[in-house]
Amino acid sequence: MTTFANLDLIEPLLRAVAHEGYDRPTPIQAQSIPLLLAGRDVLGCAQTGTGKTAAFALPMLQHLVAHRAPRGKRPIRALVLSPTRELAAQIDESFGAYGRYVDVPHTVIFGGVNQSGQVKILRRGVEVLVATPGRLLDLVGQGLIDLGQVELFVLDEADRMLDMGFIHDIRRVLRLLPPRRQNLLFSATMPHSIADLGASFLHNPAWVEVTPHIKTVDQIEQRVMFVARADKRRLLAELLRSPDVQRVLVFTRTKHGANRLVKQLDRAGIRGAAIHGNKSQTARRKALEGFRRGDNPILVATDLAARGIDVEGISHVFNFDLPNEPETYVHRIGRTGRAGLSGVAISFCDETEGEYLRDIERLTGEPIAVVRDHAYECRQAEPPPIQLRRRGPSPRRRPLPAAKPSPQTRRPPRARRQQRPRRPGAEGTAAPTPTAGNATPTQATSRPRRRRRRRRAPTD
Ligand code: AMP
Repeated sequence: MTTFANLDLIEPLLRAVAHEGYDRPTPIQAQSIPLLLAGRDVLGCAQTGTGKTAAFALPMLQHLVAHRAPRGKRPIRALVLSPTRELAAQIDESFGAYGRYVDVPHTVIFGGVNQSGQVKILRRGVEVLVATPGRLLDLVGQGLIDLGQVELFVLDEADRMLDMGFIHDIRRVLRLLPPRRQNLLFSATMPHSIADLGASFLHNPAWVEVTPHIKTVDQIEQRVMFVARADKRRLLAELLRSPDVQRVLVFTRTKHGANRLVKQLDRAGIRGAAIHGNKSQTARRKALEGFRRGDNPILVATDLAARGIDVEGISHVFNFDLPNEPETYVHRIGRTGRAGLSGVAISFCDETEGEYLRDIERLTGEPIAVVRDHAYECRQAEPPPIQLRRRGPSPRRRPLPAAKPSPQTRRPPRARRQQRPRRPGAEGTAAPTPTAGNATPTQATSRPRRRRRRRRAPTD
């Protein structure tokens, strides 16, 4: 069994992980830490919740301690780029936690707040900078940040970065970095665009991958409810009144949709808060703190804003709108069922979302149990059944291009983990919600694959 001690981490870092209560490294940590300590570039397929922050933060801290910068004002030696403010703040907090017994100053910068506090800390000198791309380039442009001494560079959640249109900013940042450095790229999914981006700046990267979502999905009770678009909010209000619904994350596709839903719930006497990119940093922090404390147990979020939310004890995830990317579904429902607790994920599927539902089932290889005979059931919303085969590669996951091969480079597997889908009958154990009638599995029969309709990704 791998332990932190036999990963060759130095004593102050071992003490810090013990302080955090970690018994042993997660798979992504066990794979990445030795590679990073050996100075390798790493291309990692892992999402939030896998322990990936420690996977890169611990070896980075060790490198910064082992190779001390010359005396004087500390230069920025490590840069972590993150897509959202929440995630950036969490990564910075993690550097604080893992680096509590070493002297490595760190800070975080992001937009939406006055820059003066951030600039003050930067002027004192930091070695680790966690940043969102916009604010970083802004401060570089003002001559307040020099990236000329960066030795370690992490591009985190690269798929989200591209979804959010940050590709040009990323390329601009890359041009500001010195050529000799260690690079890391983490992404929850590995479409061709990410592989290409990685190939453009990673040198002889080692490939690491964890697929926690498969496990996560198993411990989460998933259900789908077919409902007309116009009835979704009434159905949600009804379900939210159920006593077993305690701490809830509701996903909408758009920021506007999140705001509207919070108002509609308010009119129904249910208080919730919205969190998305148009909210001020203060409003987002307040909503998140209230959610963490349990004062405000209903949070309505867009995918991008929810990306960095790491809150334990979420009893239910509601997909008010189904995501058009099936991987996003897996990511959303992974917010519940954490730390060994069970969780429930309920998805609403309207007349326009059937294709998304089937895409999700293709990805997970399992039919989602259907809640029948609820008050707002809309049979027309139910798409034709599909044949579910053994779990194979997602249609958009392709192998990496054959750039920069080396004998040591582990290539990504051509096909993802194969797993036989459960027999449809095995899924029908989902307990009915008080208001929702019985859940039964969807029927699996043959149907030719239709082309996926794509919706524009929301911006945050
Ligand atoms: P991350 O994927 O980095 O966002 O981490 C997800 C959660 O896992 C965070 O709450 C971490 O504190 C926690 N975590 C990270 N590494 C470990 C570990 N080795 N053992 C237990 N928990 C961990």
